[in-house]
Parts: sequence; structure tokens; C-alpha cells
Amino acid sequence: MNEQVKQVVVVGGGTAGWLTAANLAQKFNSVESGAIQVTLVESPDIPTIGVGEGTWPTMRKTLAKLGISEADFLSKCNASFKQATKFVNWQQAPKNGINSHYYHLFTSINDPLDFNLAPYWKLGMIGDNNSYAETISMQAAICESGLAPKLITNREFEGVQNYAYHLDAGLFTDLLREHATTKLGVKHVSANVTDVNLDDDGYIINIHCDSVGVVLGEFFVDCTGFKSLLIGKALGIPFKSIDDTLLCDHALAIQVPYENEESSIASCTISTAQEAGWTWDIGLSNRRGTGYVYSSAHTSHERAEQVLRNYIGPQADQLESRLIKMNVGYREKFWHKNCFAIGLSAAFVEPLEASAIFLIEASANMLSELFPRDRHAMLAVEEKVNKSFKFRWDKTIDFIKMHYFLSKRTEPFWQDNKVLSTVPDTLLASLDSWKHQLITGYDFDNVYEPFPLDSYQYVLYGMGFDQTLTFNENSYTKQGFAQQQYNTVQDLTQKMQQQLPENRELLNKIAQYG
Ligand code: FAD
Repeated sequence: MNEQVKQVVVVGGGTAGWLTAANLAQKFNSVESGAIQVTLVESPDIPTIGVGEGTWPTMRKTLAKLGISEADFLSKCNASFKQATKFVNWQQAPKNGINSHYYHLFTSINDPLDFNLAPYWKLGMIGDNNSYAETISMQAAICESGLAPKLITNREFEGVQNYAYHLDAGLFTDLLREHATTKLGVKHVSANVTDVNLDDDGYIINIHCDSVGVVLGEFFVDCTGFKSLLIGKALGIPFKSIDDTLLCDHALAIQVPYENEESSIASCTISTAQEAGWTWDIGLSNRRGTGYVYSSAHTSHERAEQVLRNYIGPQADQLESRLIKMNVGYREKFWHKNCFAIGLSAAFVEPLEASAIFLIEASANMLSELFPRDRHAMLAVEEKVNKSFKFRWDKTIDFIKMHYFLSKRTEPFWQDNKVLSTVPDTLLASLDSWKHQLITGYDFDNVYEPFPLDSYQYVLYGMGFDQTLTFNENSYTKQGFAQQQYNTVQDLTQKMQQQLPENRELLNKIAQYG
């Protein structure tokens, strides 16, 4: 049987489900585009994960494509601007109470694939002893000053600096639901899926729901979160754990109100290394979202709670915490027959680089771009998707592990993270080659590499990676141009600090004037 795909059923109404349904409906809701009916089924009883507040700059394009205005998004999701992650005390534990930090930024003065300033900084030819990030970008100073990435006169989704958002996950799914159902024609079914039925060839033919009975479809997207109802339970695709590489298995979350309506809003995620993991601190427009991601093999839940509350300070006394168990790893296949798993049902790694929503956007894009119209076409797409997302998740795991592996912290958790058997061979091989050689475009031969060369340089140099370029010293002959670029960064840093509004100030203005 090679029936035409006319109906897609997305199961699950978290960030993954609504982003995917909206994406598909936006592309296929007209007769000219081949009219596919998108139905989203979500349980009225099972809550969404409710966390996931940090995004990547790709979110701007996603929102624009879906037809959601930036002003609407910012106000309805209590969202704010994010320009970086600031990593505090990752390189080493605080010394005499003094913290260290580095930035992983979204903006660099130039694309290192065109001209790489790193060797000139590394060899001390430019930089006045500034950190790597301050040498090649004005954004570290902008973040330190709590400034926004754009001016009120900039158009929606455009900025003076590259930027993403911090958002309230629950409000974001509310906005997507409203937009997808009222503007894009997504059919919404509120019901619990009780059965997933397969045909003799192992394809899903329908799902059975408690209150509405059978829901038919020719293609199904599993967005049921950690339950993995379709790809895991019904289709039996095994889960490959990576808990021997990434050791954190729990998160404790606390929402913290601002002291008052004028409190400044950080324009970066703050990730602070702790004795058995790290804390996140994300500033929304109405509150902060904080949490401690930790390894229960290295600390007790009680101690973790204490660490997070100490981080927040006296304010934490009145606040409730929420414990989340995390299963890190991914399905051996993301796509099987007529089912594609997107979001937590497909994979999860700790949110150190806020990569999950980015990979949801990437999955939804790939699905709508390669959308198979019948079973025959599905086979070819299945192979491409599985290969592509295995690559993207493996690279994400390597990148996250790199932060731990390069740390000089000495607590047992950090020592265990440096045991070679916990480190992927691919990461070891890359680090080995970068000890004596610059990272170049030749290290990135896949256009869908999740983390670009810039990102590796921010983290490697921020963590104090031991790289010697001296045997190649004579090949860096463009010192004059490098110096010019550096001077431009310093000039722009000063200008931006005078021109850019504070994060909160800009959010208030946008809320007022749209
Ligand atoms: P969920 O939100 O769990 O949604 C699952 C849906 O399936 C729900 O609607 C539920 O009702 C439905 N469902 C389940 N069973 C049934 C059933 N039987 N019938 C019908 N419906 C059903 N990502 C980032 O990008 N940035 C971050 O900063 C970030 N931080 C995180 C912090 C933590 C501690 C954790 C755990 C995750 C974080 N993530 C982050 C990941 C991010 O939260 C998720 O990737 C994202 O929210 C997508 O979740 P989801 O939609 O796949 O699953």
C-alpha cells in the first residue's frame, strides 16, 4: 500500500509538538502547497516539561516564518533578549572568593572562516591581555553592562548584535497553540492517547484516544516527551543512554521573582559551575528561572537543594523547588517508517548550551522541507534524517562534554568527568589535533554542524585550552589587518555602550510602543 499523505498527526503539545505542527501547517495549509491537514493531540492530564527557557538565534527566523510578531512574542512569553552564555567558575573553582568567567557569544567581528583573529590573539600580537571574547567581539562588554542587542529603531528580528531569547516555556506553548489553531489551521484534539495501532508492515495506521476515539493519519510525529509513546513504546526503537559520558542526571528548578520592577535583566544565560554540576540563571521580563543540573552519584538531593538555595541567596527561603529526573541519550533511530520523533521523545542532553529547542527547530525544518508524500518517499527521507540527526546529536554531546573535560576543577565530579573512558573518541581526536594546530574550516565539513568554529574557539580559549601555535608562527603574517580588526572591536565596544539601551529599558519600550 502506498497511500498519499493527506493527514499528519502530531502527538504531544509541548514546545516540540506545537513548533512542529505550526511549521508543517504554515507550509502545507494551502491547496497550492498540496494541502495537508495537521492535527495535534495533547493530553489534558499530562503536563509539559515546563522548562526550556534558553534559545538560539535561529528562533528569530522561526518566529518570523510562522508569522508571529516579535513584540507579541516578547510580551506574551515574558521573553527577553539573550546574547551569550556566561560561564562562571568553569575553568577553575573560585580562588579566595574570586570568580572567573568566560563568554560564549553570538557575535564576532568577522567570520573566522574568512579571517581568523585567534592565532594573532593566541600569539600575543593583538589584544592588550584582553580575554579572547573581548578581543574579537564587543558583545562580552555589552552583556557585562546588561545592555540589549538592539535599538528601539531596529526592525523586528533585526539587531545591532546577533541575539536569541529567554522565554517562559509554558507561555510559549500557549502562544504557539493559539497561533497554530487560529491562523494556520492546525486541528487541536485534547485527549489522552491510549493505543497506537500498527499495520502488518509495522507502519502506524491510527492512534486511539480516550475521549475522541480513533484519530487517523498517514504520518505521525512523536512529541510525547520523555514518555516516547510512539517511537519508543509502540515502535520499539531502543534508547541509547549516554550517562557514561554526561554524568548529570537530575535538575532542580526554582523560579525567582525580581526584587522590583526596575531590577536589571541579564542579557545572557549565566551558567555557574558547582561542586557536582552547574546552575543556570535565566532572566525573563517578570522573573528569573534558576536551576541546578547535577549528578546524583556525586551529591545528595538535599545537598543539591542547599547549593541552589545558596546560589539564589536569602530570597530562596520562600520559594518552592521542582525536581526533574533526566535521561540523557537518544533513540537509535529518530525516524522509523511513518513516524518521526522530535523533542524529548527523540533525545535529551543536559541544557548546558540550550541546544534542544534549536534541534527541534532543525527537525521541524527538515521534515517540512523533505516532506514525503507517500510511503515510497518516506524510505529515502528516513535514511537522511536518521543520519543527519545522529551526526547532530553526537556533535552536541562532544561539544558539551568538552566543557567538563577541559575544566581544572578538582572535586570528585569534575575528576570523574576527565576519566578518559567517559570522553568520546571523536572529541579526544579533535582536541589532540587542536593542541598544535588552529581549528579551521576543515574541521567542519558538514553544513549542518550544530556548533560552528566560533563556538569552539569561545569555549576552548575561554577554558584556557593548552594550544601551542609556535611551530606555525611565521604563517600569521597579517598582523596589521588583525590589529585593525581589534581596534574596530574596541571602538565599537565604546560606541555600543553609549548607544544601546538596557535590556529592561528596551523591553519596556517595545511593550509600550510595539
Ligand atoms: P514535553 O514538554 O514533555 O511535552 C510532551 C507532551 O506530550 C505534553 O503535551 C503531554 O501532554 C503529551 N503527552 C504525553 N503522553 C501523552 C498521551 N498519552 N496522550 C496525549 N499526549 C501525551 N531546551 C532548550 O533548548 N533550552 C533550555 O534552556 C532548556 N532547558 C532545559 C532544562 C531542563 C531541566 C530540562 C529537563 C530540559 C531543558 N530543555 C531546554 C529541553 C526542553 O525543555 C525540551 O526540549 C522542550 O521543552 C521540548 O519538550 P517536548 O515538547 O519534547 O516534551
